[in-house]
Amino acid sequence: MTDNDDILDPTTAAFWTAAADGKLVVQRCAACGHSQLYPRPFCLACDSTDLTWAETPGLGTVYSCVTVHLPVRADLPPPYSVGLVELDEGPRLLAAVPDDAAIGDRVAARWQPGDGGARPVLSFAPAGSLADAAEVVS
Ligand SMILES: [Zn+2]
Repeated sequence: MTDNDDILDPTTAAFWTAAADGKLVVQRCAACGHSQLYPRPFCLACDSTDLTWAETPGLGTVYSCVTVHLPVRADLPPPYSVGLVELDEGPRLLAAVPDDAAIGDRVAARWQPGDGGARPVLSFAPAGSLADAAEVVS
């Protein structure tokens, strides 16, 4: 399995296609209105399979964060910060956050191209430091 195999998965394909265009999308249930990420084949709130995709501006609030001090991968030298960000639409995402991030900080999503053709990588920057919207940094 490669990093790009899940792009071919019908449940996640729309998410990664949007990401390649610098857009952050969430699944929205047509039956109950619940929003969710990561992509799933059914709604977590009501089990409906009538799901659509909705683009989000990528704004959210740091729900939790931690600075990693132990090396995990050679290409990811510590220290670095990881946060659980609650999007304004409701879903929570785990991604890189600014080193000085604190619980309650407002942040904005940004996509960076993956190395060597790998899928894009999502991270969060302080809201206001970008255009307050998901964007691809090239
Ligand atoms: Zn639902």
